[in-house]
Amino acid sequence: MSETNSYDVIIIGAGPGGYVCAARAAELGLDTIIVENRRMGGTCLNVGCIPSKALIHAADEFERASAFAAGGGIGVSTGPATLDLKAVMGWKDAVVGRLNAGVAGLLKSAGVKTLDGTARFRDGKTVEVATPTGLQVVRAEAIVIAAGSAPVELPALPFGGDVLSSTEALALTALPERLAVVGAGYIGLEIGTAYAKLGSKVTVVEAADRILPQYDAELTRPVAQRLKALGVETFVGAKALGRAQGALLVETGEGDERRIQADKILATVGRRPLTDGWGLEELALEMDGRAVRIDERCRTSMRGVYAIGDVAGEPMLAHRAMAQGEMVAEIVAGRKRAWDKRCIPAICFTDPEIVTAGQSPETARAAGADVRVARTPFRANGRALTAGRDDGFVRVVARADTGLVLGLQAVGPGVAELAAAFATAIEMCATVDDLAGTVFAHPTRGEALHEAATELARHGLEPQA
Ligand SMILES: Cc1cc2nc3c(=O)[nH]c(=O)nc-3n(C[C@H](O)[C@H](O)[C@H](O)COP(=O)(O)OP(=O)(O)OC[C@H]3O[C@@H](n4cnc5c(N)ncnc54)[C@H](O)[C@@H]3O)c2cc1C
Repeated sequence: MSETNSYDVIIIGAGPGGYVCAARAAELGLDTIIVENRRMGGTCLNVGCIPSKALIHAADEFERASAFAAGGGIGVSTGPATLDLKAVMGWKDAVVGRLNAGVAGLLKSAGVKTLDGTARFRDGKTVEVATPTGLQVVRAEAIVIAAGSAPVELPALPFGGDVLSSTEALALTALPERLAVVGAGYIGLEIGTAYAKLGSKVTVVEAADRILPQYDAELTRPVAQRLKALGVETFVGAKALGRAQGALLVETGEGDERRIQADKILATVGRRPLTDGWGLEELALEMDGRAVRIDERCRTSMRGVYAIGDVAGEPMLAHRAMAQGEMVAEIVAGRKRAWDKRCIPAICFTDPEIVTAGQSPETARAAGADVRVARTPFRANGRALTAGRDDGFVRVVARADTGLVLGLQAVGPGVAELAAAFATAIEMCATVDDLAGTVFAHPTRGEALHEAATELARHGLEPQA
């Protein structure tokens, strides 16, 4: 017989949304329990953000070592670079393990009760948890669904065997000679680029008419050029038809059928909110397509039930889940909070990287704003030249009348770190004058932001009345 325990708040899922929510709730004095059926840290920490960035780093290092072995071009040379993919994965797993332990420690020190098992709603206030030692029933006034997302499976390419989701692709211990990537979104391109650098022959197949269709074309051009330079073949406007005898069958944009030889096929055509397994059927929740519908307080249509992170739809990003988690904890604790963010930055860790915050020129214009846009290429940037990579640019989008910064974007090696400055500027309602009047350290890629803003402040805006 199971025993019922009562808490102030139950959180289902210990990904970045769930664990941040739990830690904050406990810190605010709420009796908090979090249920997780895999590992602390969720998709992000175990099979997403962290392992993918570790693999990307290892691939960059290998590419650099290979370049030095081939002469380098900057006066540094080394012997032949060798790769031990098993050891790379071991190092990646150690990074993940360290962060896992960090999340467990954070929850413990905050006083959160953790429960290993699969949670399922009985009703809007009760959850039953199938644990390794039997069923436990827990009740609370507030329940937060932070169940995350799952990779979308193509009917023509079901996962299994040589057809991989990102999870398996991040755990290979033997380098595929030929890797076909279906879907040129950020996950497919990040992993595909890493394997190309490690030595696989990579082919990318994308149904849209260009890679990274969720980004504007200007930002994706340097990435497409670099893929070409890395020897990655890209088919756009093409449809994956299925697998046959060591090959991926593709219908090209021109309507021809092609066989792309591939030992492994990585299918990354998107992720879907995880709406199965936790008892959605037991609740009368309104949905937004495949995601749980939420309002500006992450409340679902059922009183006392909240949803945060990927389960509540796009943008499916770890930092958005975390910010929602923190907000919901504070709301449950009785604070007045609502989602009032001006931007959620997004980074694509391709080569070069892309970072976006706020509105692009197109989205700003579509929203009715009269905008001015300035770009500063990295080709005259001291830091870019001294780092040996001057591709890419920084772009500033500002209102024509007031100079209010509506959007900041960049593409270039290492620009991910500009995300903090971009988000801060937009969140704090900076104008181009504010940015132009700020001293940016030299030599940094950030100086390109200063230059673009200064150009708009001095020459680009409408004459003031
Ligand atoms: C390859 C890859 C790379 C990525 N890179 C980035 C990146 O660089 N930056 C970024 O911001 N985002 C990235 N993401 C996306 C990011 O991982 C997600 O947006 C983020 O993990 C969402 O957090 P979450 O808390 O909503 O859910 P999740 O992290 O998915 O966590 C949900 C947890 O809930 C558990 N769970 C589900 N149902 C139950 C149940 N019934 N009972 C108990 N537990 C349950 C799951 O097992 C899981 O551990 C990446 C994703 C992938 C796949």
